[in-house]
Amino acid sequence: MSSNIKKIAYDFIIKNKINNFKISLDELIHIIESNGWNINSFQDSHELIEKLHIPNTALNKKGLTCMLTTKGNREYFIFYKSNLAYEEKIFIILHEIGHILLNHFDYCAVPIIDSVCINDDTTTKAQEKEADLFVYEVLAPSSILNYLNITTAEEINNISYLDFENSLRYVTELHKSKINDNETMVLNKLLIKNYKEYIKTSNKLKFKHMLKETPILKKSSICINDCFCSSFIYNFIITLF
Ligand SMILES: [Zn+2]
Repeated sequence: MSSNIKKIAYDFIIKNKINNFKISLDELIHIIESNGWNINSFQDSHELIEKLHIPNTALNKKGLTCMLTTKGNREYFIFYKSNLAYEEKIFIILHEIGHILLNHFDYCAVPIIDSVCINDDTTTKAQEKEADLFVYEVLAPSSILNYLNITTAEEINNISYLDFENSLRYVTELHKSKINDNETMVLNKLLIKNYKEYIKTSNKLKFKHMLKETPILKKSSICINDCFCSSFIYNFIITLF
């Protein structure tokens, strides 16, 4: 994975104060609006779609982004299908944000004055992959995964909004990539600060799970009141923790 995508994703996380692996749709919409971008579902924006001259063929997509440049000012319009599952909606909207921040565009409306336009045909496979990689790093930052020692697609799928297929692609990509950590070291530190509470909670959960799996705390045939014993020791250690 390019360190540039990672940097852009981490800048986005830090700037917008994202601090967990399951950003809500409301939070995401708030972020989009506070960045001055527009977001609408296809189903609720017939007039806008007409005004932007988006052809019907483009409306079959799960999402798309238009960029208009008027007198040098860029204006972005993100559209998404309203009947997608919640997790998929989050993924698609972040994918479109990826296109904006990585400077590619899924689709472009007819120029009003001096519009720069990259349409569907020129959005390359490489750009689609880059936008997906941006989503992976936003929904499950690799620095935090490293910190929590999370390495498998199953774990990523469990703790984030990434489905199993994307989690698997992400893990493969992370194995392939050889990013020089020095390049993102400052951002990594800021990111860990952002996710401090999340890391604390995850570590506690992991620790609780580990304790439950520890033989001494499992049911023992020697102890008559094993449940009491186990829960006593367990609660004692958890209190210490
Ligand atoms: Zn795309």
